[in-house]
Amino acid sequence: MAGLSLKHIYKVYDGRNTNKKKSVRALIKKVRGKSEPKPTVEKRSGKFVAVKDFNMEIEDGEFIVFVGPSGCGKSTTIRMIAGLEDISGGELYIDGVLVNDVAPKERDIAMVFQNYALYPHMTVHQNIAFALKLRKLPVAKVDKEGKPVFAIDKKKIRELKDKLEVVGYDAEYAESEADKEMLLQRRQSLEKELDYYTQTPVQAYKYKKMPKSAINEKVEWAAKILGIEELLDNKPAEMSGGQRQRVALGRAMVRGPKVFLLDEPLSNLDAKLRASMRQEIVKLHNELKTTFIYVTHDQVEAMTMGTRIVVMKLGVVQQIDTPTNLYDFPDNKFVAGFIGTPQMNFMDVTIKKAAKKLAVTFANGQTLKLDLAQLRKIDGKYLDGEEHEVALGVRGEHIRIAETGNANSLKTTLSVKEVLGNTTQMFVKLTDGGQDYIVCVLDRNDYRSGDPVKITFAEKNVHLFDKESEISIMDREVGNN
Ligand code: ATP
Repeated sequence: MAGLSLKHIYKVYDGRNTNKKKSVRALIKKVRGKSEPKPTVEKRSGKFVAVKDFNMEIEDGEFIVFVGPSGCGKSTTIRMIAGLEDISGGELYIDGVLVNDVAPKERDIAMVFQNYALYPHMTVHQNIAFALKLRKLPVAKVDKEGKPVFAIDKKKIRELKDKLEVVGYDAEYAESEADKEMLLQRRQSLEKELDYYTQTPVQAYKYKKMPKSAINEKVEWAAKILGIEELLDNKPAEMSGGQRQRVALGRAMVRGPKVFLLDEPLSNLDAKLRASMRQEIVKLHNELKTTFIYVTHDQVEAMTMGTRIVVMKLGVVQQIDTPTNLYDFPDNKFVAGFIGTPQMNFMDVTIKKAAKKLAVTFANGQTLKLDLAQLRKIDGKYLDGEEHEVALGVRGEHIRIAETGNANSLKTTLSVKEVLGNTTQMFVKLTDGGQDYIVCVLDRNDYRSGDPVKITFAEKNVHLFDKESEISIMDREVGNN
């Protein structure tokens, strides 16, 4: 179990394949081998910032979900945590230890991917046991009296020196001042680490294989929790997608990692199985109480599984919050639109404070007067008595049909009605002026396509966003306007 700390993490893809398992020395040699090194550096076209200034403290035992549309940088971030991608800038700590330069296998992290990657010729038991069989466990070295042996870690020092050499070289030929600054900071933190390891003897380890009985015990323990005890002798081809993903989870579990990283593990399953596996994974987390970090593009998975969710867009964190806070208090229009089905309705409006009301003027020229005491607190600069253009957001379930004779309502026309049984979704358009549909989630009713429908909003659930920046202009508390 472990807490994680991500400080100003950046990932810049610079056209060089950072995943190549070439030794850093070979890389330096290759670059230095050129008669004129600078052009080689400039060849790094397609430089791309995939993750920008990611900051987060993750408590031990949390279930964190990274969510966002394709390409937002969620997989890159989880891969940096796993050690499968180099961190271009910033610092990553696991349990307070800086791990930027710690090899993946030494981070004590298990990763489960979308593709189960099981060995087809092995049984479930063999698949789960495989990593344990190969694994040599570090056993702290002790002297004859049983006291821990401390020594200077020469391997670690060698690795750090290699890294320093590469970073120093990159800094020298950085393409911009910002890059140079980032690389110099990185060099400083590497130097600090090198100083520490050069001067400080650390616990020495020897490595031993796990006994067979201990491996079997672990496999049976995982199989029991995952409900696949009956399948231990089966081969992957004889199992369903859900069962195979359970085996993949089992393989991660037996390693007893400090952190579980799950990258879209349910994407290959059909909708029904995904829903049940979602619950299985939440149960597994409750049982193991280990830190889980889960990547998905599916906001329903994020909402139902995460204790906290990180919403990302184009490499930038948009909001980190609990599922209900994200739903109720989105920090910006992107988060508001991304979380929730059907999507929040957005309307371009102008607002103007008039006594204790907020006059909201819509595209069809109609004005709705909202009670300022019922709305969430609005940034004072929008309440100066002048007109301001903003985006109004309201979720379908916070729209009501106006009572007959209520003049303070919005005139719309019903386009399409979908009766879902438990709710009815009505797609209405502003009469005389509205292009976009407003989706209302209502009870059953007798309206038909083409009918006029007057609607009002539940005021405390109305959202307002600045038109340019798209940032919310509201606080979390209601009233005080
Ligand atoms: P998806 O859900 O599609 O996997 P994602 O949010 O996980 O998306 P990432 O895989 O993290 O996105 O990719 C973030 C961005 O970085 C994307 O624009 C992607 O094209 C780019 N990218 C990823 N790997 C590399 C690479 N090796 N070299 C250059 N660019 C890359």
